[in-house]
Amino acid sequence: MTAQTPPLRSALLQGLQKVLGTPATLIPLHEPEFSEAENAVLQDCLASTFVSSVGKYVDQFEAMLADYTGAKHAVAVVNGTAALQIALTLAGVQRDDEVLIPALSFVATANAVAHCGAIPHFVDSNIRTLGLDPEALAAHLAKVARTGTQGPVNRLTGRRLAAIVPMHTFGHTVDLAPLMEVAGRYGVPVVEDAAEALGSTYKGRHAGTFGLLATLSFNGNKIITTGGGGAILTNDEVLARRAKHLTTTAKRPHRWEFFHDAVAWNYRLPNLNAALGCAQMTRLTSLLERKRELASRYQRALDGCPGISFVPEPEHCRSNYWLNTVMLSQPDSCVRDELLGAANDAGYQCRPVWTLLHKLPMFADCPRAELPVALDLEASLINLPSSPKLASIP
Ligand SMILES: *Cc1c(COP(=O)(O)O)cnc(C)c1O
Repeated sequence: MTAQTPPLRSALLQGLQKVLGTPATLIPLHEPEFSEAENAVLQDCLASTFVSSVGKYVDQFEAMLADYTGAKHAVAVVNGTAALQIALTLAGVQRDDEVLIPALSFVATANAVAHCGAIPHFVDSNIRTLGLDPEALAAHLAKVARTGTQGPVNRLTGRRLAAIVPMHTFGHTVDLAPLMEVAGRYGVPVVEDAAEALGSTYKGRHAGTFGLLATLSFNGNKIITTGGGGAILTNDEVLARRAKHLTTTAKRPHRWEFFHDAVAWNYRLPNLNAALGCAQMTRLTSLLERKRELASRYQRALDGCPGISFVPEPEHCRSNYWLNTVMLSQPDSCVRDELLGAANDAGYQCRPVWTLLHKLPMFADCPRAELPVALDLEASLINLPSSPKLASIP
């Protein structure tokens, strides 16, 4: 324990107590919400017997996602990692390419790159958005990129820089305007990992509608869930059709014939999961309202606490506040762990941000930029209990 821990600890615990009361049992980090709507569609889906790869709910869920986000097309798939793998493939990522991703992300972002046979190339984050920093990216590209015959190449490795993957951390959007400008200048396609950002907008436009493609996740801990699930968003009709084709075994449509024209994947979202997604979409507005209310309660409760501050939505962004987050003003992973221990002991399930991806054994040798901000964020971020229902506690 360091000298600064006790005051910080009581500041955090008091803030949590003010917003959440005193827990009878552990208050989870994030819980999904189900009620009659979910029961009804699941019963209907079971009764239809179409629980798997055929049925009306997949189309309906895709239409709801496209309508809500404003993306022209949505293709539902088995999970967010699969969505990202296919989106990267469609953006042209091939074996031995490099893909620029933030070092501060969930492991799925890097795994999806690796599943394409490509190599993650880690870049730094921004202290306010918690996501990929456009200025740091531009400075890094100016240093490492040279022009190749098929777009920019990493001059140190000779490998093509095939895509940029910004990730909207905890629902806070990356500063997309300058990011798209840098990507456009280098001619590198952008695939947004919007797994955490359903319901978030940047300058009034939904996250995931800026890049060539984007991906969502509906895992159990995300803002809405299908049990497991994901989606690919795009405005490009050809890419959307290709996404559907590649995620459904590349079968040529025919009444009875089995003819497949590519080595493809069985990544289609089962109808049963899509049914759950349709019901969850109808409560999204309510979930977002309560998450926003919870965020403002945390912000008020922690206002003026020395050494610790609430992370508000960045400029230009209306965040879904998927996970509420506080930041230590002095990054220190020992202090962070002390606080995590105290909060969890007191019944508030809090957690740190992910270990930076370049520190994981399978990605330790991947190319990377300087990562000063990501390192600070890793040692200073703490997520707080964020279930929407917590906003109804007085
Ligand atoms: C949840 C998540 C994913 C995808 O996760 P799945 O569990 O495969 O649906 C990808 N990237 C980020 C940043 C995530 O948080």
